[in-house]
Amino acid sequence: MLIKVIGGHGGKAPGFRTTSYLVDGKLLIDAGSVAEGLPVDEQKQIDNILISHPHLDHISDLAFLCDNCFGLKDKPFEVYSNKITRNAIKNHIMNNVIWPDFSVIPSKEKPTINFNVIQSEQLLTLGEYEIMPVQVNHPCKGYGFIVSKDDSSVIFTQDTAATSRIWEVAKSFKNLKAIFTEVSFPNELQAVADMSLHHTSNTLKAEIPKMPADIPIFVGHLKPGYQTTLYQEIQDIGCSRISLLGSDNSNYVV
Ligand SMILES: [Zn+2]
Ligand SMILES: [Zn+2]
Repeated sequence: MLIKVIGGHGGKAPGFRTTSYLVDGKLLIDAGSVAEGLPVDEQKQIDNILISHPHLDHISDLAFLCDNCFGLKDKPFEVYSNKITRNAIKNHIMNNVIWPDFSVIPSKEKPTINFNVIQSEQLLTLGEYEIMPVQVNHPCKGYGFIVSKDDSSVIFTQDTAATSRIWEVAKSFKNLKAIFTEVSFPNELQAVADMSLHHTSNTLKAEIPKMPADIPIFVGHLKPGYQTTLYQEIQDIGCSRISLLGSDNSNYVV
């Protein structure tokens, strides 16, 4: 799999884009910055979109993706999420108030976007990909995803505080190649991290022994306002497996 990190941060500012990972140019994981970070011709090539949870930094560019691509694709973007996320996007974003309902544009028969509800720990097959959604420790019963193709699997926790189930489920996957996870706040904001169910460097450090051993850990979702502190604190964990994600369309082959 070729994983392009369009957005690897937990906020928007020049040089920082919110979570969007693109697998092989056609499977998008979260839509925080896909419209601002990818040329329209490449946006049109996306088939399926996994949405972890309905926070704005993971869904905002669904609106602009649809606006860019409506009428230009021969099939809709197929979006997969839990029910809370699906309802939030339909009721609060594409509700014909904040944004048009692109599930009936250009027409009901040829929509730009189609919503599908998926369940935690029920395997989803999308073409050559197998996706295992697993509920993590974040509001709105957010999902992480274990994405497999050929002989490789990659874990994307997306937003989460300390969690267990995704690591347990991952044990049955034999060819794990990488973990994409998060640190959002500096250690001095542990109370905010606990309240919002995110990691600090301290809680990530405590999480590492629960993770599958030896494979690389890519850390994203850093809040732009705390970059310098977060770089230092993550480095201070002293784990050579950790790399930090940018928001520059860097590609990772697994
Ligand atoms: Zn979130
Ligand atoms: Zn987030």
